[in-house]
Amino acid sequence: MKCVFCGGTLRSGTVTFTYEAEEVYILVEHVPADVCGHCGERLYAPEVTDALLEIVHRKTAPTRMLHIPVYDFAQAEIR
Ligand SMILES: [Zn+2]
Repeated sequence: MKCVFCGGTLRSGTVTFTYEAEEVYILVEHVPADVCGHCGERLYAPEVTDALLEIVHRKTAPTRMLHIPVYDFAQAEIR
């Protein structure tokens, strides 16, 4: 199967799906996807997409929590 965006070759693997909802980031690890080796585009099977939506809207207890530092590039003091 070829990437619909660039024509690159797709490889089956697992990825971390990221979803942003207001001030909350949700990560879903080990999601099966076909990943383009050229542009990095990910394609999910329809049943995987349905499961991802179910996971992000269910709001059950996550497997683990991360603390994510946030920086503003414009305010970074780089000398
Ligand atoms: Zn591609």
